[in-house]
Amino acid sequence: MLALGCAPTQDPSSSVALPALVPEGPPQPPSGASRGFADGLLPAGATVYDDHPGLIRLDSRLREELRAATADASAVGVGIVVNSGWRSAAYQSLLFEEAVAEHGSEAAAAAWVARPGTSVHESGAAVDLGPSSAVDWLAQHGADYGLCQVYDNEPWHFELDLDAVENGCPDPYDDPSDDPRLQM
Ligand SMILES: [Zn+2]
Repeated sequence: MLALGCAPTQDPSSSVALPALVPEGPPQPPSGASRGFADGLLPAGATVYDDHPGLIRLDSRLREELRAATADASAVGVGIVVNSGWRSAAYQSLLFEEAVAEHGSEAAAAAWVARPGTSVHESGAAVDLGPSSAVDWLAQHGADYGLCQVYDNEPWHFELDLDAVENGCPDPYDDPSDDPRLQM
């Protein structure tokens, strides 16, 4: 009787050759590869207590203050979710290119997404928070933790400004294209 279906003993020297490895090189054009957890993508519902790279690579003081705010908000029934934190340069480039496609030009896109190389998300100094109940709570109480809204058109975007603990948050810019820190 033939032993069909049994795994044959294989001589390693005769096994099928593996496909050639893709050589490392300059950054590839946008693909799904720039949008992994390693690039700062966060799963839905992430909180500042999670350990994804997008959270671990935040500025440590920002993370500490956001944890304090998250605990205090939670005590009054408000959950704070982190939709975006630290992002790799590749991820920021991808987001900007998508915004260019959506808004029609680089200038129009820059009102919504910081140009690659300028985003404070790339240095881990900003977080995009939600849901709107959390944004509302932080608009009222965030200054106590140095957490400030920076742009009128992005109420969910918060950065750490420890002067705000004493002096309150400064007036937000209209949008990122109005922010002198982001001019290239
Ligand atoms: Zn942001």
